[in-house]
Amino acid sequence: MSKSNSAIDRDSESDRNREHASDNASDHESDRRDQGVLECTDCLDPADAFALVGNEVRLSILEALWAAEESPVSFSELRREVGMRDSAQFNYHLQKLVGHFVTQQGDGYVFKHAGEKVVRSVIAGSFNEHPSIEPFDVTGACFACDGPLAATYEDERLAIDCRACGQGHGEYAFPPGGLADRTRAEIADAFDQRVRHLHCLAADGVCPECSGRMETRIVEEDDCCLGVSLRVDHECRQCAHTLCSAAGLRLLDHSEVVTFHRERGVSLDDRPYWTLPWCVSDEFTRLVDRDPSRLEVRIPLAGDELRVTMDDELAVVETHETSPSSD
Ligand SMILES: [Zn+2]
Ligand SMILES: [Zn+2]
Repeated sequence: MSKSNSAIDRDSESDRNREHASDNASDHESDRRDQGVLECTDCLDPADAFALVGNEVRLSILEALWAAEESPVSFSELRREVGMRDSAQFNYHLQKLVGHFVTQQGDGYVFKHAGEKVVRSVIAGSFNEHPSIEPFDVTGACFACDGPLAATYEDERLAIDCRACGQGHGEYAFPPGGLADRTRAEIADAFDQRVRHLHCLAADGVCPECSGRMETRIVEEDDCCLGVSLRVDHECRQCAHTLCSAAGLRLLDHSEVVTFHRERGVSLDDRPYWTLPWCVSDEFTRLVDRDPSRLEVRIPLAGDELRVTMDDELAVVETHETSPSSD
């Protein structure tokens, strides 16, 4: 199982980001009006942002806001929840959060997105800081050798691999909070849902981490967790978050693909993605054109086959159904 390939901080990526940053700087004035809605007049340096919330009282304030049943939360109620007697000192910490993490509304305080995000990330990681669970069996068989599949959890990533031949069936970040209060079968199900959801967002051009602009690339290199030589990468221009997948994963909620399966008694919602070979292997994917790239994914089922052609942004341009008699 290799991890480096789907990791966030690849050198080449940071280089590209640096180039990008200098491009922006040189064209700064001319681009100014085209730069979109984010006028960064009071943006906060990430290090300063971490410093602001790197304090127990301030984290407690954010947690108290989170736990409150009604919003906005008044000053006195917040102070009571945090358990701080000294009103002036409490106010000092609260004011450090106001602006970037918290905002005043009426006579109380509410979250800004960044404040909520801080608490969410604490919750996502805090049930168990270094959770380890033994590899466990999951539904389905290896597309390569028909061997049994197992889920392994390591470094906050969950991977589905073949116990017999080691073939990868996808490996993605899965926050420790996702393990809490779930059986192994439920963990596998949640992982399946999460992978579908993240890739759906990414393919639609929205980074699941920061909502930045995500770009899609067709890659012909055998260097990712799937061990396929034709795959799709999504990469965020803003935060460099990267996701890789087999091209077929994009098709899981495409209406014609869903119908093709439903007519043959298969509900794609009920099948973990890793049990569908065209979602994890490149055996069913073919590059039919370059410049611009066109991919074809073959989906065989019950003696018939659906062929789906996608463009370089994974939009479906054509579908074609064949059966043994017609093909
Ligand atoms: Zn195998
Ligand atoms: Zn991003």
